[in-house]
This record gives sequence, structure tokens and C-alpha cells, in this order.
Amino acid sequence: MTSSAYRRRERRKARRPPNDACPTCGTIMRPHRGTRTLPVNGEAIRVRDCSYLLCQKCGETLTGLDAAYDLFDRAFALYRAKHHLLPPDEIRGIREQHSLTQAAMAKLLRLGTNTISRWEAGRNVQTAAMDVLLRLIRDVPETLKFLRRHAA
Ligand SMILES: [Zn+2]
Repeated sequence: MTSSAYRRRERRKARRPPNDACPTCGTIMRPHRGTRTLPVNGEAIRVRDCSYLLCQKCGETLTGLDAAYDLFDRAFALYRAKHHLLPPDEIRGIREQHSLTQAAMAKLLRLGTNTISRWEAGRNVQTAAMDVLLRLIRDVPETLKFLRRHAA
């Protein structure tokens, strides 16, 4: 790197605000714990005792990557419990019971290719309506035949 390029890069670094500066007003943000609300399948789910950075001046909040994963995990778990939905390992069990790949099952249910994979990994959660369909596949043997007959 030429010395002028080095100097330019150093000047850019110097202008960049510190990592804990509020992106809205530049004030240093402080760690905070509180309730966050997250949309899960269009429903607002309140997650208590979350950690995030809060700007005391303008009220802006920032959630770090680890805290964000934790927030999503807890929001999905709350949603699952609230609607009495099948847990991820049971969804995998139903699929494996019928020797379906994730892609084949997604196609039968007319879902996006990666949806089943996300449900099974706990990275997303099924709606109550989809949960009923999954239980039908598990408990009513004719369901799979019906879905195959009416496949898109
Ligand atoms: Zn601020």
C-alpha cells in the first residue's frame, strides 16, 4: 500500500464513530435490559428481559448479533408455546416418518424450498394453520395421498 493510501485509510478510520455510538445522534449508547417486541408470522410477540444498547438521548436501540439470535429464539419459543405448536424435532420426525426430503415436503405444502429446513432448525416457526396440516400428515394416513393428488 502506498503511504498516501495508508494515510487516507487512517483518516477514514479516525472519522468513523466508535462502535457503541448511537447511529442516529452519535451519543455513546449504554447496555440496557428490557422487553422487546418482535413480529412472528405477523403477530407481535413480547420478549421480556432482553439485553441491548439504548441511547439515553434519542431512545434509539441496537441489538448485537448474539443478542439478536437469542431474541429470535425466545420469540419463536413463546409463539410456539402460545399456539401449542409442534417443536422443531417433531416436524423433522413427521417428515422422516414418511421418508420425505425437506424440498419434497415443502412442495406438497406449497411452501418455499427452505421453509421446512428453517422450521426444523428452529430458525423460523410454522403458523397455526400449517401446524394443523403437519398434524394431519402425522395422524391421518390419507393426508399425504390427498396432498400428492393435489400437488401444484
Ligand atoms: Zn441517539
